[in-house]
Amino acid sequence: MIKENVKNLLAEIPEKNPFGEKVTLVAAVKLQTAQAINEAVEAGITDIGDNHVQEFRDKFSFISGNPKRHFIGHLQTNKIKYLLGKVDLYHSVDRMNLAEELSKKSAAANLTSNILIQINVGNEESKGGFALEEAEQTYKKIKALPALNVQGLMAMLPFSDDTALLESLAKKMRETYDLLRAQDSNIKYLSMGMSGDWQICVNAGSNMLRLGTSIFGARNYNK
Ligand SMILES: *Cc1c(COP(=O)(O)O)cnc(C)c1O
Repeated sequence: MIKENVKNLLAEIPEKNPFGEKVTLVAAVKLQTAQAINEAVEAGITDIGDNHVQEFRDKFSFISGNPKRHFIGHLQTNKIKYLLGKVDLYHSVDRMNLAEELSKKSAAANLTSNILIQINVGNEESKGGFALEEAEQTYKKIKALPALNVQGLMAMLPFSDDTALLESLAKKMRETYDLLRAQDSNIKYLSMGMSGDWQICVNAGSNMLRLGTSIFGARNYNK
């Protein structure tokens, strides 16, 4: 089932977005067992993303195939220490305080952490992240921190059937991404697109998708 889903998705997702950029698929692995994740990796998944520090720690050494590790969930500053040096890309830098602490702890450990700035593109109260209008100013502030390498932007579109709305938000994200990319060649990822909206996101110029349900099926929150 997982293997088939991965094969189908890898066939369905265009290799490149309309901007000619390679589209990377990150498997969103929250609540999945190491066995399920390993199955996905065997089928061709190269990147996996966790939401919860505890899960990341519990499963870390049981994942085979050496996929790239992403952290895509809300991160409390007191838990940074468990992730340092083990995460290839933090997608969810959603507040200044987290950026500062991550930089401080990275510097103390003698490393640089790759991050994306999370944007609350739908201005939703239930979601974290900076306002789209603050993106450039936030980028400049975070860029000034010593031990972070800013590589782009991340967003979650609202849950909505309004395709025109989603397309317009995704397009705004791409425009802001392009604005930053024009001033900084380290900017290379626009992480946007989940199981329900990834086609819209790729068409608008996303180059990194985070898919859970379409790989692993519906999540069981009662386990
Ligand atoms: C769970 C999750 C996803 C994947 O969502 P699906 O709808 O299952 O594809 C993507 N991004 C984040 C941040 C998530 O928490």
